[in-house]
Amino acid sequence: MTIKSMNNWGMNLPENAPIIIAGPCSAETEEQTIASCVGAQKAGAHILRAGIWKPRTSPGSFEGIGEEALVWLRKAKKETGLPTTIEVASAQNVYTALSYGVDILWIGARTTVNPFVVQEIADALKGKDIPVLVKNPINPDVKLWVGAIKRLQNAGLTRIAAIHRGFDTLAQKNIYRNPPNWGLVSEFKKHLPGISIINDPSHIAGKRELLYTVAKKALDLNADGLMIESHISPDQAWSDPAQQLTPNELKHLLETLLKKNTASHVSDSGTELNSWRSEIDLLDNALIDLLAQRKEIVGNISEFKKENNLSIVQFERWKEMILTRLDSGNKQGLNQELVEGIFDAIHQDSVRFQREKQASSNINESSSGNAG
Ligand code: PEP
Ligand code: MN
Repeated sequence: MTIKSMNNWGMNLPENAPIIIAGPCSAETEEQTIASCVGAQKAGAHILRAGIWKPRTSPGSFEGIGEEALVWLRKAKKETGLPTTIEVASAQNVYTALSYGVDILWIGARTTVNPFVVQEIADALKGKDIPVLVKNPINPDVKLWVGAIKRLQNAGLTRIAAIHRGFDTLAQKNIYRNPPNWGLVSEFKKHLPGISIINDPSHIAGKRELLYTVAKKALDLNADGLMIESHISPDQAWSDPAQQLTPNELKHLLETLLKKNTASHVSDSGTELNSWRSEIDLLDNALIDLLAQRKEIVGNISEFKKENNLSIVQFERWKEMILTRLDSGNKQGLNQELVEGIFDAIHQDSVRFQREKQASSNINESSSGNAG
């Protein structure tokens, strides 16, 4: 059976504009759930989201209110007239969600990784006519993502879409909580052409300052919509406080993002500029962290050279180092003078640091010698 794209789900979703799903990471209290959902609607959401059961990485984190919160979400649906979506992580969750009139279910990243649980959910959905969104698995495995969707298809569902929420990788430090690996989305689309893809910049970025650039990139790459976490008072949120937006911030973000095609619009609000500046701040801090790590290793090298009577400056090593850095910089399109200047400065400082370290250990050795 073919998968229907979201604007053919018969839910009044926009045809020529991104579909916006918004609402709190978790339903916490009745007041917070309803206020966050009404705020999301005013900001431009077409579907409301809220976490009811939260599969958390560590025990002791807030694990969701459970069934009671479905009553609150049903009220939010009544008040806004918008469809609702929640995460389900077991067959029992599916039955409970359906009994409260939830309109769309989603399978979370920690569930998509497990074919047994996905199959259990698919079995529970057999013969039911409800749309399901499938988040990518935590690990960068496209086949697992595709496999989860195929299990739902095999259960007879046709209203299925994917959510791209980024991947947890062991790769080096990254400014994002879950780096997007955009290439994996293209690979995914090759397996399931025609499926709608909703980008979740909140779980990719992990920080509200970075939402704009992630969401913009997703829309530039033709994402069909966005799922964004929004909370009436994000700093007090019981889960994911750093990445949630107030309803006003969400409104502002959506206006800035969606106005992108209106001729040479320059954002008066600075959303765009602020988001880029935050990325630059994080990247510069990462550079400083790397320099500090490098300095620690230089310290070990200095001791090794002293113990083995090696000279501090070794011309061959220096030449090889600068040439390989120039080559890497060149491949990435960086200005040669910049790369040369940076590594020259780093090398000079490294030599100075090694000299100082050896000189101070000489003084210590001779003073301890005198004392003895
Ligand atoms: C969520 O959407 O609140 C959530 C827990 O997301 P993920 O499954 O992507 O971590
Ligand atoms: Mn969350």
